[in-house]
Amino acid sequence: MKVAVLGAGVVGTSTAYFLAEDGHDVVVLDRQGGAGQETSFANGGQISACHAKPWAGPKVPWQAFLWTFQPDAPLLFKPWRFDPALWSWGLKFLANCTGERERINMDRTLRVALYSRAVLKALRQKTNIQYDQQLNGILHIYRTKPEFAHGRRTAAQLAALGLAQDVLTPGDCVKVEPALADAVRKGELVGGLMSCDDESGDALRFSEELAKLAAARGAKFRYGVDIRTLEHDGKRVTRIVTDQGDETPDAVVLSLGSYSPLVARQLGLKLPVYPAKGYSITAEIEDPSAAPTVSITDETRFMVFTRLGNKLRVAGTAELAGWNTHLDPVRVAPLAKNVMSLFPRASSYKELNAWCGLRPATPDSVPLLGGTKFDNLFLNTGHGTLGWTMACGSGRVIADLISGRDPEIEMDGLGLERFGG
Ligand SMILES: Cc1cc2nc3c(=O)[nH]c(=O)nc-3n(C[C@H](O)[C@H](O)[C@H](O)COP(=O)(O)OP(=O)(O)OC[C@H]3O[C@@H](n4cnc5c(N)ncnc54)[C@H](O)[C@@H]3O)c2cc1C
Repeated sequence: MKVAVLGAGVVGTSTAYFLAEDGHDVVVLDRQGGAGQETSFANGGQISACHAKPWAGPKVPWQAFLWTFQPDAPLLFKPWRFDPALWSWGLKFLANCTGERERINMDRTLRVALYSRAVLKALRQKTNIQYDQQLNGILHIYRTKPEFAHGRRTAAQLAALGLAQDVLTPGDCVKVEPALADAVRKGELVGGLMSCDDESGDALRFSEELAKLAAARGAKFRYGVDIRTLEHDGKRVTRIVTDQGDETPDAVVLSLGSYSPLVARQLGLKLPVYPAKGYSITAEIEDPSAAPTVSITDETRFMVFTRLGNKLRVAGTAELAGWNTHLDPVRVAPLAKNVMSLFPRASSYKELNAWCGLRPATPDSVPLLGGTKFDNLFLNTGHGTLGWTMACGSGRVIADLISGRDPEIEMDGLGLERFGG
C-alpha cells in the first residue's frame, strides 16, 4: 500500500520506520531539510513513562491562575489574549481538571508510554540504533516536604497502574547521582524518586538515525515540501497538495505536531491540539565529573536535566501563546539560573544554545491515535510533553492499524472520538 506520512518529527519518522518494516511503499513529507528539525530538535531527552500524570488536575486551575501574573512562571497561560483556539482548548482542559478525569488520563497515557518504552527497547536490540542513550533511569528530586509528599502520592497511583518507582533519601540521591553532592550538602533536597526503567537520549539524533533505517527499508523522505491542502471525496483523502507537486497515496498519517489541527481543519476535523511552547538550553560539558550521568527531573522547579554525550541539556517551561517560536529571554533565564546553581562546575556556561519548540498539547495530555471519519486518514499527533517517550509505540500501533493487524495495546480512549470527532 502507498502510505504518505505527513511530518518527519520523531513521531512521523517512527511511523514511517514501522510502516516500511511492514513492506509498505512509504513517502514522508516535511517542510524542513531533515528529520526532527522542529519540536523534536532539542527537547528534554527523557523517555519518561514516569511523567504520565496529565497536566490537567484538581489543583491546576488555581495554580495556573496565580501563575498568569508571573512572566517567568513554569506554566504561563494568558486567557485574556484574543485567541478562540486557546479558549476552546482551555475549556476542554478545565473539564479534565477533576480527580476522576486525572486518573483516567493517567491510565491512558501510561498505557502508551509503557508500551512505547518496550517497543524502543526492541528496536534498539534489533537495529543497534545509537542516539546518546542512557539506560540508567530518571531521578526526580524534590526541594520541599509537601512536594515530596505529593510526589509519593503520584508514585503510588503510577505503581497501581504498573510503573514502579523507588523512594530515596537525599543521601540515596547522591549515591544514584554523585553530581548532586553539593546540592545535598547545602540541604537543598528533601528526597527523590527513582524510575529505574525510564531512559534518556537525543531525540534529534534518534530521528535522524531512524530516518536512515527507514530509508534503508525503502521509505522515501521528501524534505523542503510544504503541505498546503488535503483534498477528499467525503469518504477518503484523495490528494495531498504541496508546493512541490501532489501525492495520491492509499493511506495518510497526520503527524504534523502542533500544526496538525491547521491542516486537519481543511477536512472539517477539529483536533483539540494547541501549542505549548517550551524552552531548552544546551551547554558543553567541561568537567564530566561534575555533570549528571542520570537524567534528572527537578519536580519543584519543573525542569529536566539530561546528559547527551558531552553536552548537558536543561529543558522546561510551558507557555500557551499560539503558534510562535520567538525566543523570549525572560523564559530562558530560569533554566540558565537553575543549571548553573545545581551543576556549577559542569560547564563554564559561556554558550547556552537556547531553543524553543511547540509541544502539540491535547487538553487531557493523551495523544490522538487512530482512524478518523475518512477511511484512509490516521492520526498520530498531540503527544504534548511526551512525544519522544511515546513515539515508537505510537508509530507501531498506526503501522498495525494500516497493515490490518490488531495493535498490541487497547486503543480505547486514545482516538479523536473522545472529543466527539
Ligand atoms: C522544551 C521541551 C522539552 C521536551 N522534553 C521532552 C522529553 O523530555 N521527553 C518527551 O518525551 N518529550 C519531550 N518534549 C515533547 C516532544 O519534544 C514532542 O512531543 C515531540 O517532539 C513531538 O513530535 P512530533 O513529531 O509530533 O512533532 P514535530 O517534531 O514538531 O514534527 C512535526 C513535523 O511536521 C512538519 N510540518 C508541520 N507543518 C507542516 C506543513 N504544513 N508542511 C510540511 N511539514 C510540516 C514540521 O516541519 C515537523 O518536522 C519536549 C518538548 C519541549 C518543547
